[in-house]
Formats: sequence, structure tokens, C-alpha cells
Amino acid sequence: MTDLLTKNFAEHWVLDPVAGLAGVADVSVVAGQIVSVTWRDGEGAARACWAAGANPGPSDPTVALLPALIDLHAHFRQPGANASEDVESGTRAAARGGYGTVALMPNTEPAADNAETLRAAIAGERHGVQLLPIAAATVGRAGTQVSDVAALVKAGAVAISDDGSPIADRAIFRAALLAAAAAGIPLIEHCEEPVLTVGGEAADGLVASRLGLRPWPATGELRAVESAIAVLRDVVASAPTVRLHLTHLSTAAALAAVRSAQGEGLPLTCDVTPHHIALTDAWIAGDRRWAWEVATADEFLTPTANAFDSNLRVCPPLRAAFDAAACREALRDGTALAIGTDHAPHSREKKEVEFGLATNGIAGIETCLSVALAAHRAEELSLATIVAALTTGPARLLGVAATGVTPGALASLVQINLAATWRPSRATLLGRSINTPLLERELPGVVQMTVLKGNSAYQK
Ligand SMILES: [Zn+2]
Repeated sequence: MTDLLTKNFAEHWVLDPVAGLAGVADVSVVAGQIVSVTWRDGEGAARACWAAGANPGPSDPTVALLPALIDLHAHFRQPGANASEDVESGTRAAARGGYGTVALMPNTEPAADNAETLRAAIAGERHGVQLLPIAAATVGRAGTQVSDVAALVKAGAVAISDDGSPIADRAIFRAALLAAAAAGIPLIEHCEEPVLTVGGEAADGLVASRLGLRPWPATGELRAVESAIAVLRDVVASAPTVRLHLTHLSTAAALAAVRSAQGEGLPLTCDVTPHHIALTDAWIAGDRRWAWEVATADEFLTPTANAFDSNLRVCPPLRAAFDAAACREALRDGTALAIGTDHAPHSREKKEVEFGLATNGIAGIETCLSVALAAHRAEELSLATIVAALTTGPARLLGVAATGVTPGALASLVQINLAATWRPSRATLLGRSINTPLLERELPGVVQMTVLKGNSAYQK
């Protein structure tokens, strides 16, 4: 962190998801505060531009200014595995990725199932990055006894979750949902039916069968989603404040089930990850095309890299292009309110092993925005959809105020060159673990500066 910023961001492509404005503007920041935003074509045009998707024209400036991003799902490893990622390295990585607020999952060791651990491990602020704690839904994340949710909310918890483990016992799941409702926060569920997914290494399909990997079937997610929705439907009448959020959904079938439940009016939301919108299971076989570049099933494999990169092992697994397309569709139509990174740093000891022995997880907080921008370049996602999914959407779930590009407010902004590219590498990434399958791949969108609460938190 350096001193309060004074800078005139002239002729930038500015996106304000809070006010619903986009277009070319000058933004003046004095002593950390936004003092003026002047839209070149007026506010009416900026409103119309946001409504039309906020996509710049070919002659518009390529340097953009957007509010600092919010991640609703990340893992730092403090305490338990600080060598993989601690608060110091995680917040530096977050600021480099454009984030100003990160909600941390409770699966530290020990789990954040009590106020003391929660405050020590996953709350607070570092490098200007605000950490919002998500507390364990059950004691020890063991799924047998609901945590003291009221005490955890008092300590700052914005949600409860046993992420990494589904709450398999339906009675416990129901009790956790009611406890969260009583405390006014959502329950975030990792949807997986363990009976169907045990030992699963990759999505069920052609890639898994060709490579001899044990399948983690799409029904393993769908069954869990359907069961969670059934419980939600059952409790909503007696607990009107209940809120259920299903995180990192990966299949077309599960997203369709969520869409249908939302159509019933159930208080249900979900998110998708950058890797599930952009990568497919074919990457495990050495294919390196973006999900939207795969046109038909019969050309599903074009290996250009080595197979079995264990950085691709993740839960839920990477899936078919069809499922990735459904994840993008869910963002476009609002079924999914956010892109959550599921940033899951792991040491080399846990990842540089045989594919089936590797720990699940992809470190993604520094590449998420670029992956989304790759989808934007392919005209798969509008900038308005991307920015909302990285700011106002997660803010809505977490119950925090999203910052806009608002005169009078402290500046929390990301300056990004949309036209430039970069390559994630050991040299360019700030996170302590670099378990990403995107290493050395050219990605669009270079974060030049992240300003948090008026201070420079990252500068390229
Ligand atoms: Zn999970």
C-alpha cells in the first residue's frame, strides 16, 4: 500500500455496474477520492451502453476502469498450509487479479467453525483487500452437528458452508439451512453426491474412458442439486428468510434444475467458475482450445500439449464443451449471479504427482478476469455480464455494498488494458502456489493498477 492516490484517468472505457453506466469517460481521483466522472457522450448514452452490454467499439479506448472485483469463493490456506497460500500472499494475488474483496471458505486446518478461528484465519484486511469470512456450516465440517451460526455471524461470518464436502445428511442440511436463515445469511452448498462420485477423477465421458480415468458423473452433481432444492422447497414456507446458494455448478443439467427452481420463486442462487466456463475435460487429453472453440463432438480432441496435466484435476471436474456453454448461458440469463474463482492453491507436492493422486483445485484468482475476457473476445459474454458477475452479483449474495465509479466515494478501481495480453508464469504470478493449467498461455487483459479505498494496492 502506498499513499492516497491522485490521478486523472482520462479517456478510459469506464464501467459502473452499480449505476448501470458504461462508455468513454474521464475519472478524476484526488487524495484517494473520486471527485468527478465525466461521460464523453453524456449519462443517457452511458446508460444505454450498459444496457446494450457495455462492449466498446473498435475505435474506443482499450484501457478500462472498473470497480474492484469481489470473489465469493476463495481458499487461502492459513492456518494449516500457509506454505501453499497465506493471507499475505493471497491478498497480494487478489489485488493483482483486480480484487478488493474476497470471501474465504472455512476449510482451513482447523476448520473455521468457531469465532476465534474465524477471526484469526479468514477475517480482516491486508494490502487493502477486505476478507469476508464464510464459516463452517457444521462442526469440523464433518456434517454431523450444525455450528453455532449466531456466534459465527457475530464474529463476522457472511455465510456458512462446508465447501469441499457436501452436507450429506439431509436432516443436518435442513438444520443448517434453518440456522443460516435465522441468522440472516445464506448457506452455500458444494453439490456432490458422494455415492456417485467416490474416486472420480474426471467427468464421465469420452475423455475419461479414453484415458482410463475413473468417472465423476454429471448425475453426481444433479442429484445433489435436486435434493438440496427439495429441502429448500420444504422449508421456505416456514422460514421466509432462507437463502440457498449452490457454488461452482458445472453441468447443464444442474443449471437447468436451478433455473427451473428459480422460476418457482425459490430463494436460490448459484455461481460458476472461470475454469468451468472456459476449459473442457479435453484439456486433460492435451487439447488446449477454449471451450467455445470446440464446435462439434466428433472433433473433440486436438492434442497440442501433454496429457494428464494434474493442474487440471479439480472438483467438480472439467466437463464437455456443452456443459461449459451452459455455464456461460447461466451467466447471460442471470441463473448464475457470479463467477467465483474457487481459488484453490496447492503446493507442488500435492499437484506434481500422477493425475489421479493430485489434490483437487486450481489457483485462479489472478487469471479469472483474463479468462472471462477471453470469453468476451469470443463474443460469448458481454462486458456488462462479466463485470456484474464479478461485482454486484457476488455482493448481493454476501450482503455487502458493491462499489461503483461514484463521485464522492473512496476509489476502489481496477485499471485494465483490454487489448494487451500476458502469460501467467512463476515470474508474473504473485500467489504462493501456481497450480494453474494456464501457465504460459497467452491471456487477454492486463491489470495495470488496482486501487483499494483510495490507496494503490497493486501496480504493474
Ligand atoms: Zn467446493
